Amino acid sequence: MIPSNIKALILDMDGVIWKSDAPIGDLPAIFKRIRERGLKFVFATNNGTKTPEEYQKRLADLGVEIDKEQVVTSAMGVAFMLSKKFPKGAKIFVIGENGIRVALENDGFEVLSVENAPQAQVFVMGIDRDVNFQKVAEATLLVRAGIPFYATNTDKTFPTPRGEIPGAGAWLSVIITATSVEPIVAGKPFPYLMELSLEKLGTSKAETLVVGDRLETDIAAGQSVGCPTALVLSGVSTKAQADQWKPGIDLIADDLAALVK
Ligand SMILES: [Mg+2]
Repeated sequence: MIPSNIKALILDMDGVIWKSDAPIGDLPAIFKRIRERGLKFVFATNNGTKTPEEYQKRLADLGVEIDKEQVVTSAMGVAFMLSKKFPKGAKIFVIGENGIRVALENDGFEVLSVENAPQAQVFVMGIDRDVNFQKVAEATLLVRAGIPFYATNTDKTFPTPRGEIPGAGAWLSVIITATSVEPIVAGKPFPYLMELSLEKLGTSKAETLVVGDRLETDIAAGQSVGCPTALVLSGVSTKAQADQWKPGIDLIADDLAALVK
């Protein structure tokens, strides 16, 4: 199904590779096929909760060996954006999980606990499965005081085998409502993760296919940088929604296995 001029794939993960803990299809066979076709690939995910090493291990547990350099997360995107604007050692209050914390610390930033949040020079928000009122209150006070507000991604929901649960965007909306301030966002549909992925792949936009399950993030991001796009129907967006999407999507497949067949 993939045209012969395509040399590389930028793959989303949630809804393409797995849904929560459940792999979508026979992953070892799918990646054997991708390698047989000589396609390079990176994973670009708006999910900033895990580190590249954690994704590498998770894929290895599912029978797919990759290099950690093949993973680009929205947490890495935020850390990169901040490293261009703020000095090393800048104090950052984070609502988020391990992925964002490690990415910021790797770039030399100091991640504050909620008790020390009033010292923050920057506030960063991603999905945090231990979010609570105290964290949200501190974040609101910071943003209302004019502290710069960054976010990993704005995905409204997150796919699980039982259906969709609140994503980072849903939690962000609490801070946005309480402050009337919009964050600066690293993840898809903003182009940054695509640009970082293209840099890692070394392929041109025309020969790099962006694959995802969500129109308003994956497909929009691919189209915004001028890459061909493929929607898989194994996640969030439906065929009916895809048919309405403008500009048109290059390929639509039931899942990744069908796409690479
Ligand atoms: Mg997805």
